[in-house]
Parts: sequence; C-alpha cells; structure tokens
Amino acid sequence: CGIVGYIGHRDAYPIIMKGLQRLEYRGYDSAGIVLYDGENTHLSKTKGKVDDLRKKSEATISINGKLGLGHTRWATHGVPNDINSHPHYSSSGDLVIIHNGIIENYESIKKALIARGYSFESDTDTEVLVNLIEEIKKKEGVKLGKAVQIALNQVVGAYAIAVFDKNKPDEIVVAKLGSPLAIGIGENEYFIASDASPFIEFTNNAVYLEDEEMAIIRIGKEIKLRKIKDDAIA
Ligand code: GLU
Repeated sequence: CGIVGYIGHRDAYPIIMKGLQRLEYRGYDSAGIVLYDGENTHLSKTKGKVDDLRKKSEATISINGKLGLGHTRWATHGVPNDINSHPHYSSSGDLVIIHNGIIENYESIKKALIARGYSFESDTDTEVLVNLIEEIKKKEGVKLGKAVQIALNQVVGAYAIAVFDKNKPDEIVVAKLGSPLAIGIGENEYFIASDASPFIEFTNNAVYLEDEEMAIIRIGKEIKLRKIKDDAIA
C-alpha cells in the first residue's frame, strides 16, 4: 500500500502515477487518484494495478490539476473493489482522504455518525474517518487541521493520511502513526509519499513524520511538524 500527493506548479497527474508505480513493491490490490483542477475535483479508482488506474483515468476523467492525491490500497476493511478503493469523499463531498493503515474502533464511530445522519458508500474504516473529521469540523467550527487533530485523538489504530477540503484547496493535511509518511520540499511545491522514491528527482529535501505527528502543507508556508496529542493547533 502507498500514498503519493502533490501541491505546487506542476501537473500532479504524471508525478502521482509514476510515484504510485514506484511504490508498487509495497503490495496492493487497488489504486486511486483525485485531482483538483482549480475548480473541481476529479476522482478515479479501480481494483487492480496502477496501470489499470492509468487507463481508467485517462479514459474517464480530466487529468489536469496542480494538486492531487494518489493511493494504493491493501484492503483491511471491505473487499477489494472499485467502491472501497481510495480516495474517499466525506458525505457532503467537501473533504477527500487517502489512508494507509487501520482504524480499529471504526464501528462505534460509524454507528454514532449514522445516528447523526451520515451515510456511507463503502465498507471501509477510512470513509468513517473522513466523516468523523467532517463532523468535528462542522460541530466545533474549527479549521481542517484542527478537525483532523481532534479526530485522530478519538481513533485507535494506525495510519498515514492525507486529506484536503475542495472548498479550500490550498492546503493538504497529513498525519502519521504506524504507517510511513514523508514530505518532499521543493520550491513552491510539496510532495507527499510513503517513501522518498516518488519525488527523488525533484528534491532531496525531505522530512519524515514521526509517529503521532501531523503537518499542514500549504504553498508559501514552512512545514512545521506538530504533535497530534499537543493542543497548539489553531
Ligand atoms: N484500512 C483501509 C482500507 O481497508 C486502508 C488499507 C491500506 O492500508 O491500504 O481501505
């Protein structure tokens, strides 16, 4: 399983597809990508290989965009199929997430969210996490970074995640516990990946998140790693 993301001035699609291919050694059963083209998000996902994702994406979605997230999935909750593949949108369609790892207490969170009117398309633990983030963001009236932090303090499990809000697509929030996550720092561009191989030809400046660390990635802003358990995020 693997994660690749990009925000900057280049086309995200080729960087993400090549990056996913370089992470294929990690093993996976499905692959997916979401791109933001300046106006809309475009999502494509499929059971199968990165090559299948490439064919499907090029045939069915607009592959433009300077911001994107890609994922290869090793299914833990929900069979490998197109719907359970990542990325996953929140119920409102505003937030989109990719996740490697397991949310162990997803069932009780899912029940509570269903009671509050949330509905789910997939059988994944990941779709529960993105809706928990959305619920906290709305209920507490906090920014995405803070909502992610509060949500991660409520979940038990392991994760490398990347999430963005399509209404505020100038930042990507990432966090890690258990699964690996690196941020590649370029000039007016950032890369996200499970290891440095997807961005090695673009920058050798990388930071690796420690367990229970998160970061808000925004162009023009320095990367500051923060503790998920720390209360300092505004
Ligand atoms: N638990 C998630 C799922 O089954 C993520 C699995 C992974 O690490 O790819 O969809």
